[in-house]
Amino acid sequence: MDPVGKVAVASPRWPIWGHLAAVESLQRAIRANRVSHAYALVGPEGVGKRTLARVFAQALCCPTERPDSAVPCGVCSSCRRIGRGAHPDVQTVGLRTQAVMADKTGSKNTSLTIDTVRSLRASAALRPMEATRRVLIVDDAETLQETAQEALLKTLEEPPSAVTIVLLANDAEALLPTIRSRCQTIELYPVASAVIAAGLMGLGIEEGAARELAVLAGGRPGWAARAAADPALRQRQADAVARAIAWIEGSPYDRLVTAVRTGDGFARKREEVFADLETLVGVWRDVMLVSAGATSHATYRPRLPVIESLAGAMTLAGIAGALTSTQRCLADLEANVRPRLALEGMVMAWPSVSTRESPASARDSDR
Ligand SMILES: [Zn+2]
Repeated sequence: MDPVGKVAVASPRWPIWGHLAAVESLQRAIRANRVSHAYALVGPEGVGKRTLARVFAQALCCPTERPDSAVPCGVCSSCRRIGRGAHPDVQTVGLRTQAVMADKTGSKNTSLTIDTVRSLRASAALRPMEATRRVLIVDDAETLQETAQEALLKTLEEPPSAVTIVLLANDAEALLPTIRSRCQTIELYPVASAVIAAGLMGLGIEEGAARELAVLAGGRPGWAARAAADPALRQRQADAVARAIAWIEGSPYDRLVTAVRTGDGFARKREEVFADLETLVGVWRDVMLVSAGATSHATYRPRLPVIESLAGAMTLAGIAGALTSTQRCLADLEANVRPRLALEGMVMAWPSVSTRESPASARDSDR
């Protein structure tokens, strides 16, 4: 396989989808031999932090003679082992690696502990075994406990000379200011869907499917690549959209029943409810875009026929109100408003789709 592939369209010879500014900044540092001891790659889940960290590590460790030191060969033993997480000088810690420990101690694995940082510090003290530098990647850095961050700070304050630490965080605010001030922060923003589509086509995905998946990815190449390889993930997304549409299409009574049921299940299925509400926001946004004549910007294109019929059955003002009320419900749930109250308030503000009321639910609402 071509080491950089067609996916490199958007960046200078790194197999990264998008993130031009970030790639250029890291490449400049490598060419100038001014690589920092610590970086923080910050951006939403699935945006491509892990991939970027991995290619950066390949560029730093690749032993192959090459015209541009900032571009890894991608095919040597070093590059391939880094690619599959098996190089002795490139180590990743995160919730996934910590889970093994958590199983042993029976503790909940929701934050990175001081023990994990201690093992990382021990690893940072080692000399490189093969490469000229060790690269230590801290995934899920936004979950570092405060004591763990303080322990990590000691390493950042006295960095071993041949070590580069790369923190991957969804949220920079979760890191102590003292940590942030010792890292070079690189922000990763959502990637344009055309760039993601080109990347997926480079993986051999057919154009129509690639475009569809790229739009669904919402700027997250990591999600798109996983979804391309995992039909179950695509199915879960399709199911979530179907649930959101069914909720919107329901009679006022059916909508309320769903709101009550969702509210009552919130304590047990918090993350699922948030994900479903995010999907609802996406569907309402599509209904609004279609209603406003901007169909080409819609996200859930495979469901356009039903989205178009919803848009035709409501006024633009009504749709805008529904979008606002759904976003407000999300904010209310974050702020610990009683779930049932927040969800009931949300559906009450949705304009009705009277023509779609089913005979069964009409009977129910007469009771
Ligand atoms: Zn190489």
